[in-house]
Amino acid sequence: MSEELGMTVKKSEKFMDWYYEVLQKAEVVDIRFKAKGFDVYLPTAMRTIREMERLFAEELDAKGHLPVMFPIIIPESNLKTEEEHIKGFAREVFWITHAGANKLEEKFALRPTSETAMYPMYSLWLRSHLQLPMKFYQSGRVWRYETKMTRPLLRPREFRWFETHCAFKTDVDVIKQIEQDMDIFKKIVNDSFCIPFLMIKRTQWDKFPGAEDTYAFETVMPDGKVLQIGTTHDLGQKFAKVFDVKYLDEDGKKKYVYQTCYGPGITRMLGAIVCIHGDDKGLIIPPAIAPVQVVIVPIYTGNTKTEVMKKAGELLGSLAEKDFRVDLDYREQYTPGFKFHEWELKGVPVRIEIGPKDIEKGVVTIVRRDFRERIQVPEEKLEEHLLEVMDSISAQLLKRANERMKIEDAKDLKELKEDLKKGGFVRIEFCGEEKCAEKFKDDTGAEVRGTLFGNETKAKGKCAICGKKAKEVAYVGEGY
Ligand SMILES: [Zn+2]
Repeated sequence: MSEELGMTVKKSEKFMDWYYEVLQKAEVVDIRFKAKGFDVYLPTAMRTIREMERLFAEELDAKGHLPVMFPIIIPESNLKTEEEHIKGFAREVFWITHAGANKLEEKFALRPTSETAMYPMYSLWLRSHLQLPMKFYQSGRVWRYETKMTRPLLRPREFRWFETHCAFKTDVDVIKQIEQDMDIFKKIVNDSFCIPFLMIKRTQWDKFPGAEDTYAFETVMPDGKVLQIGTTHDLGQKFAKVFDVKYLDEDGKKKYVYQTCYGPGITRMLGAIVCIHGDDKGLIIPPAIAPVQVVIVPIYTGNTKTEVMKKAGELLGSLAEKDFRVDLDYREQYTPGFKFHEWELKGVPVRIEIGPKDIEKGVVTIVRRDFRERIQVPEEKLEEHLLEVMDSISAQLLKRANERMKIEDAKDLKELKEDLKKGGFVRIEFCGEEKCAEKFKDDTGAEVRGTLFGNETKAKGKCAICGKKAKEVAYVGEGY
């Protein structure tokens, strides 16, 4: 493969340059669309996203969420109803003000998130306690006018996500839902995307506008920065009271619901998959979501072509029948070497090579994308070996990603600054004060991101930043 087709930048040397090169050459996104923060998603991205979204939709369906589709516009009066919410989003909203030559009587927001679109409808739908819990979700795009430097997939102005919006009778149900949201993340993001994460309860000054509490799913990128790839929010009864979402309970009384909303960020997760798993040869897409899991490359000379193509076609048919996502590269204008590089660049986890000698011996050659290790297996045991190799690739990707999730403990400011240089999360005892965290962020660029969801040891010493009495154990890291 010629220089301009293959990767030229080393990931370990210039990470961001490598990122832009792999996005372009592996046909993930094209960043040349003439509106800042808006990119064109290419087939590699869309086909991978289709698999990612399928896993989320199946899992949400299984957990009792029902799909809906809401308009992408939100009337200004809806968006303004919840005061903290609009304050939090005001600077990020794209507005539609005109239609044709006419100025609209009421302007529309392009939805930055859908609480204020959905809950007025919940108020119309919900009558009785018998309808609870009410769990709806939609998958789609949202728009936020990102004011910091934009980056494709990682900080765009338009992104894809899922949002679930649930209503419950009690606040106990809320915590159970949040735990279930975490379980879904473990099953899909950790096990299938091979992306490890921490679930962090955000500080009160950094939560979702209008929420009681925000929990963020965060992973560590190869440059040591922390990336938020999803959130789930405890909305309490705040939105219910503003949008009048109530029901008639068994005791004959009208009551407001408790609500949660959950937003796995598909766009950001794709960015994380590209960055975390990729190498100097290009992408490595985890087998569970690879649009092509296995590619067959036939190797022949003039007089063996018929025989090799026949065998390659048989393998394609039998693997497709067994539900592998498999492709046969029959293009005649390219050499096998060119094809190997191209499929490696696009991150296909396993390659099968089949030539006359393999056929003679009754074997096929399989090559795994991560180590580029090559093994010969008997043709009748191909399926078994492919499953094994794909499992091994997933385990290996997760293991490598986990190495960056190692958490350092720092007991004072000096240690904290030293540890932050290594990248990733640093755990400290923290006073819980916004001013302390703000000053630290101004000085270093790193943030006190919050406390760990679930069991965590209690703080007993001093705040590592300011030295005052610590109230909690917190996680610090530099964000995107
Ligand atoms: Zn402090």
